Amino acid sequence: MTLPADTHRLAGAPLIIGGGMAGAALALLLRHHGTPAVTLVESHAIAAGEPPDTPSFDARSTALSAGSLATLARLGLLEAVLERAASIETVHVSRRERLGITRLHAGEHALPRLGAVVENRWFGHVLLRAVEADPAITLRAPARVTGIRRHEHGYTATFDDGATLDTPLLIAADGARSQTRDWMGITARHQDLGQDALIANLGLAEPHGNVAFERFLDDGPLALLPLPDQRQALVWTGPRDQVDAWMALDDDAFLAALRQRVGGASPRLARVGERHRYPLILTEACGQAVPFGAVVGNAAHTLHPVAGQGFNLTFRDLALLAERVGGQPDPGRLDRLSAWAAERRRDQTDIGQASRWLPELFRVRHPLFAHTRQLGLLGLDLFPAARKSFARRAMGL
Ligand SMILES: Cc1cc2nc3c(=O)[nH]c(=O)nc-3n(C[C@H](O)[C@H](O)[C@H](O)COP(=O)(O)OP(=O)(O)OC[C@H]3O[C@@H](n4cnc5c(N)ncnc54)[C@H](O)[C@@H]3O)c2cc1C
Repeated sequence: MTLPADTHRLAGAPLIIGGGMAGAALALLLRHHGTPAVTLVESHAIAAGEPPDTPSFDARSTALSAGSLATLARLGLLEAVLERAASIETVHVSRRERLGITRLHAGEHALPRLGAVVENRWFGHVLLRAVEADPAITLRAPARVTGIRRHEHGYTATFDDGATLDTPLLIAADGARSQTRDWMGITARHQDLGQDALIANLGLAEPHGNVAFERFLDDGPLALLPLPDQRQALVWTGPRDQVDAWMALDDDAFLAALRQRVGGASPRLARVGERHRYPLILTEACGQAVPFGAVVGNAAHTLHPVAGQGFNLTFRDLALLAERVGGQPDPGRLDRLSAWAAERRRDQTDIGQASRWLPELFRVRHPLFAHTRQLGLLGLDLFPAARKSFARRAMGL
């Protein structure tokens, strides 16, 4: 039987399940590293040329580190992202009613910016526009894979419309509750922190000066990230019943409660947009590589959003994966995938632990801890070398 030319092309293509931030970014990175064709499957509809509205590309904003911006530049996407992003030139870390205040400045690192904040919908628009513009990336959306079967040379995936596709490399990028990860036989640990992150965009009565504020409060950490048009993106974490109460307030009462928490640390708040909440459930896959398969993004690790590291960490995973397997005739070789996962483990462990312990450290009320964390923040402010190494780590450099 003669197969249509398209089928031949797809037979050798890596298949990415999940067209969110991780899946879309990986498709572009694989192409950048010489993979001739990629198939990307997303369960939600994506209208061509319009900003997406999917679980990944929603009302949130993402703080992209300097390292992530450099990777976007390599993909030729930096200008488009920055078109609607606000630079972070200073990071201001503080704790309510305490001395410790630390400022990290772009100038100390000879960088134009420490990072940039972009609304997820715009970021998704830029990534998916690049996906659509590449004829070698087949985007199937809305579409679902209903089952996978492993064989000698890879996997065969069956779609909800009955179509099947052979792939030498299957990627699970379908989020924290990844079904593809389960199908590959990789288990995951989930830890419900009993907290939610409330997010909203805020209108300001004065410029934000490109400062990102991170404030450690007794309820949990709060971040105010600069956005274009004199706005900030709020990420406010707290126990679920506390978040219930914040969600129930009218806009004026909400702003008053927020002002009280933020104190004089941030510019004057004028308006609040729609509020959304996200349960904080940490996920960690017990592995990332199987023969002909890899797990990435939220499917591999979901972090506390405290330091805005989740996607930045993922982007580093993806850049190395694409470098190792991109353009290879046998991208699903287990030794290669295992070596990639091993190489990424240190960074994942360090960032995972930091984002797990940071909010805890700031919540403990023992005076010894209070003293230590003040010293920690003040120390960072007093000793430029320590601050520099902390910042370089957070920036993914
Ligand atoms: C409040 C909050 C703030 C954050 N802020 C930052 C930040 O400032 N900086 C940062 O670096 N990170 C941040 N993060 C983390 C960041 O959002 C994640 O790293 C990122 O969403 C991971 O993307 P993903 O594509 O792996 O997963 P997801 O975003 O979960 O996307 C998964 C995709 O797969 C699709 N899908 C699911 N099942 C299927 C299926 N069966 N078939 C096909 N498709 C499927 C979904 O529709 C979705 O599009 C934040 C997270 C939260 C919750």
